Amino acid sequence: MNTTPSNILVINCGSSSIKFAVINPASEQALITGIAERLGEAGAQLVWRGSQQKNTTALETADHDLAMQAILTLLAEQQLADTLIAIGHRVVHGGEAFTHSTLINKAVKQAIADCQSLAPLHNPANLLGITITEKYFSQLPQVAVFDTAFHQTMPAKAYLYAIPYRFYKEKSVRRYGFHGTSYRYVAETACQQLGIDYQHSQLLCAHLGNGCSAVAVSNGQAVDTTMGLTPLEGLVMGTRSGNLDPNLFSFLADEYGYSLEDTSRILNKESGLLGLSELSNDMRTLEEAANQGNQQAQLAISVFCYQLAKTLGGLATALPRLDGLVFTGGIGENSSFVRQQVIKQLAILGFTLDEQANQQHGNKQGVITQPGSTCALVVKTDEELMIARDTASLVNQAPATPNH
Ligand code: ADP
Repeated sequence: MNTTPSNILVINCGSSSIKFAVINPASEQALITGIAERLGEAGAQLVWRGSQQKNTTALETADHDLAMQAILTLLAEQQLADTLIAIGHRVVHGGEAFTHSTLINKAVKQAIADCQSLAPLHNPANLLGITITEKYFSQLPQVAVFDTAFHQTMPAKAYLYAIPYRFYKEKSVRRYGFHGTSYRYVAETACQQLGIDYQHSQLLCAHLGNGCSAVAVSNGQAVDTTMGLTPLEGLVMGTRSGNLDPNLFSFLADEYGYSLEDTSRILNKESGLLGLSELSNDMRTLEEAANQGNQQAQLAISVFCYQLAKTLGGLATALPRLDGLVFTGGIGENSSFVRQQVIKQLAILGFTLDEQANQQHGNKQGVITQPGSTCALVVKTDEELMIARDTASLVNQAPATPNH
């Protein structure tokens, strides 16, 4: 076991779970990964994997604090607790305050709290994760890595909504974009795979998981993206509607008597693939059903793919040329059918699919298009590694003392 103090603990704290990983930034290997899940419920449990098989420990009704104690005990048992040099936290919303990852201090925690109105489900949980880890790892510096930060390079013409300007000035209402940590990782990796210079590259990236978004990256900087003030805007997702007519709120109120909360819940939790298919939010399940002739599953997938292709076509407008379209996330990495549909729909951008490479999720370079075609490729995302890289680099620049 590695006993040199050189590893990073990566924490992704959600409202009912704590995902964690210990990563060695030199080898970029994860030494342990796991999740404490269903926190606050009867079935709370700690699931983790080291170099061997998956292990599960019951946590009974543990809350976040007890779960963190269990993670600390586990890391001590695995002789990893003493190898840590810093902790990196995923933080969903950094508003306009954070354009990069940052060492956490009191002012940073306050700024994360100030962004709570923009991400009421995520930021309080992220902050709780920071507070608890400070308690149990008080000697270690902590770093916040924001989902929104990468998109802060977008120009005003891309991030402003055409609504009265005072909402932006007074309440910071604008498009922020998410999945930024994933995009930084896959855009850089795609350039390595293609042998092109990231700082002079023109890319479109689509992160397609339960949440879905896309971004245009010009010379290593985000110039436009699909998610907005919240992650609801943009593409069709597992349970989120993506773009629609905002008048739907008043229409559903008139027709069904729905409150703002009702419609908001429907658009966030009951729409997207789930709403259209009336079967599942899970693309794998829908593909199986579609193959067996389920017409609503077929319809849901076709809406998903068409809207994605249409949006990518629009995003391409933000770039002077296109060096590559990157697919990532659970669907982007694994669904050859979705990629095929999207690439076919985007023929106008000069794509010609290599069917065999697509079935294999890419050739050696991840490429799924034919020679001479505009390039599309598959890159497996690794947000935890990106958080570990940022954390290691900030800690190596700064005095190794906690600054909270
Ligand atoms: P999250 O956003 O929660 O991290 P993931 O990135 O793991 O989610 O993506 C989950 C999605 O990926 C689900 O819709 C799942 O069905 C889909 N997916 C995973 N594997 C496959 C596959 N082999 N074929 C099609 N879809 C898949």
